[in-house]
Amino acid sequence: MLIVVNDPTHVERELCAGRLSCPHCEGELRPWGHARLRVLRTAAQEIELQPRRARCGSCRVTSVLLSDVCLFRRVDEVAVIGRALLEKAAGAGHRRIAVRLGRPQETVRGWLRRFSSRIALIQAHFRHWALALDPRLETVTPQGSPLAEALEAIGLATRAASLVFGPRAVWSWVSAMTGGALLANTNSPFPAPR
Ligand SMILES: [Zn+2]
Repeated sequence: MLIVVNDPTHVERELCAGRLSCPHCEGELRPWGHARLRVLRTAAQEIELQPRRARCGSCRVTSVLLSDVCLFRRVDEVAVIGRALLEKAAGAGHRRIAVRLGRPQETVRGWLRRFSSRIALIQAHFRHWALALDPRLETVTPQGSPLAEALEAIGLATRAASLVFGPRAVWSWVSAMTGGALLANTNSPFPAPR
């Protein structure tokens, strides 16, 4: 799977021009049909997406090109999940967050628990990205709860990324910088800055 910008026309152009790299070997990706239809729940509505599929010219592995508004195996938009995390950091419990977002309590609790179980990994990953993109940040000393520190690291890294690579919504950067695996059920590392 490869996280791409939320602009199908742009992605199609990049794909057909051979400008997208294989996430496994850096080889050139080429069009290879489409993945199955999937539902994405945004803050206000449900929409259907059919992501593009591509195949690497070198290693021949196929990859789904997933928009950066999504996370791997999550129906809800990453920005909605991000809002839940911010509300949790501001002191809200999962029941209140679920009501505000119009999502089942179990769903919200699942996001918060999964994030919490990976919080050290997430914080370290985004600190690493922030420092790779802006070495002046070395003097910043994070303080606060693990959740506040992780969200601060996300804020620093995504702000630096927007300055270096061009503006993109915070939570879209989060999806891109974790390869869509922010809340994945695995201990495999996130993609390193490059
Ligand atoms: Zn490849």
